Amino acid sequence: SDLPSNRRDRSLPPLPFRNQISSSTRILFKCTLSNTILDVLSRRVGWEQTTGEEWHFHWATREWMSTSFDRYKFTSRQLVNHFRNDFELTRKDNLVKNYKKMRRALEKNKSKELSKYSFIPASYVLPSEYHIFVEEFKKYPDNTIWIMKPVAGAQGRGIFLFRRLKHIQEWKKKDVTGCDAQPYVVQSYVARPYLIGGKKFDVRIYVLVTSFRPLTAWVHREGFARFSHSRYSTESVEDAFVHLTNVAIAKTAPDYDPEKGLKWSLNRLIRFYESTFSKQRVQDMITDLSNLIVNSLRCVESLIIQDSHCFELYGYDVLFDEDLKPWLLEVNASPSLTASSQDDYRLKYRVLSHMLDILDLEGKREGTEHHVGGFDLLINKGVIVERTRGPDPHNCFVPSVNLRLGEYHESKSK
Ligand code: ADP
Repeated sequence: SDLPSNRRDRSLPPLPFRNQISSSTRILFKCTLSNTILDVLSRRVGWEQTTGEEWHFHWATREWMSTSFDRYKFTSRQLVNHFRNDFELTRKDNLVKNYKKMRRALEKNKSKELSKYSFIPASYVLPSEYHIFVEEFKKYPDNTIWIMKPVAGAQGRGIFLFRRLKHIQEWKKKDVTGCDAQPYVVQSYVARPYLIGGKKFDVRIYVLVTSFRPLTAWVHREGFARFSHSRYSTESVEDAFVHLTNVAIAKTAPDYDPEKGLKWSLNRLIRFYESTFSKQRVQDMITDLSNLIVNSLRCVESLIIQDSHCFELYGYDVLFDEDLKPWLLEVNASPSLTASSQDDYRLKYRVLSHMLDILDLEGKREGTEHHVGGFDLLINKGVIVERTRGPDPHNCFVPSVNLRLGEYHESKSK
């Protein structure tokens, strides 16, 4: 659960626009969660919680989206935190299907864009693609590792790795009897991840989508890397503490120590990369990451039901391999907003506050900003390009993507 109130930081950053909101401004919000989001909403000047049907802002559950969204009569100034069919992006099987559909369309048109769509490891949806998978499986070298993931799973639950087809017999048996067969995604395992201190990690990045048509997305500069509990090795594929980076998994280790720091801030990770690789290599990695985000959204751009009352804060999970190539593992529709430490609480608080600044129910923004708090505008119809100072003295400015991962400094912000 969330931090008890007496452990919360009393010196949280001042709320924005404190002096600019008139005393008569009243923004009504609805929120059934009791974690960081409720704190952010409750502390925002001029905002008031309601349990009624009249609200401006609703931090809704998925259940509300499927039972009530379609029946709800929206007025112009209302926002809700999901798109109606966001599962096209956030369910593991749909992501794979839509990604493959995009690849097929680009292949058919012999489009050069195809090369940009290689950010998800080879994946098959089971049981429907079982036979295709078996054919493909035979083409891979004997010791290839595969990972099985329940399509609607979270926190590492139900995931296992295997090398031989017989290891998925248990799952198949259930499928044949038809009773509690669970749909899975089987995916080629990224067996050579980039390691730090001998451990594997993946990275959580916050992406705010305010519209799918036109595609408008912001990326927050803060995020974190989550490390596995045990040192990496491919000898044993059974050990979840080695192969999975979920905090929920690490917590079950008998020698788990919450203070031992299985998390790094994005800032620390980027500084580490900068001390290990050239500036250009790190910039290339950031460009690859921005392509991954933009193109994953492109895969569902035409499928998502666009509605001006909807926005969504996605949690992207990305794994870097030893060549620093980013691989998309999953997109979360409800990234955890429960804090695991004081630092984690502050980070999530900032991300959510800046999100509200962008959504701007207070009507304070100009609307042309490319940076708001820790968020940078990545795409607004087209990808936003910045001119940054390059290494060549004769050609001072080079174009680069508008993404400054790890560069948020609280003191410099308002
Ligand atoms: P969940 O929704 O249960 O967290 P994920 O897809 O995020 O499922 O996977 C959980 C963990 O498994 C990740 O944090 C990552 O460490 C590992 N993992 C998942 N897919 C792969 C893959 N293809 N290659 C390597 N590791 C993977």
